[in-house]
Amino acid sequence: MEFPITNLLSPEESEGWILEHFHPQGLKCPWCQASVERANLFRVTRKSQLQVYRCRECKHIYNLYTNTVLQQHHLTPQQAVLLLRGILKGETTNDLAAELELNYLTVLTLRREIQENAEHLQPETPVPDLEAESDELFQNAGEKRSKVRQSASPSPSASQQTARTGHVRE
Ligand SMILES: [Zn+2]
Repeated sequence: MEFPITNLLSPEESEGWILEHFHPQGLKCPWCQASVERANLFRVTRKSQLQVYRCRECKHIYNLYTNTVLQQHHLTPQQAVLLLRGILKGETTNDLAAELELNYLTVLTLRREIQENAEHLQPETPVPDLEAESDELFQNAGEKRSKVRQSASPSPSASQQTARTGHVRE
């Protein structure tokens, strides 16, 4: 049975859940890592009704979804929570799109991004563990790659370095 259920959650509760699972260290500026206390409220997004902050340190703007799989999909916090829950529970893309009144492709894209993150994080485990590393599960792939590149350990293997530099001119 399909029915819209997004109104069963409040935006505040949903934002709290996203904050807890996506930003366990607290919301920070993605560019300079200054905490959200060092940002001004800039505006509220039209579709998602999310607060947009402007960092006072580096002047960049960001919101709860920046650099996560949720960015650019214009989901409300309620839709985001229920969608992620449904994906992790293995509900079908069709059912989720209908229940949450979302575009089929939006659901499919997010499902694929989260599955790719899960395979990357836990190659031995078919079902992602929400309690462990959920913030990494929901990071967008580009952000994860740049984070891996910056970190000192584990250092990239020789073959990875060859791959990175060896194909530039091809
Ligand atoms: Zn900043």
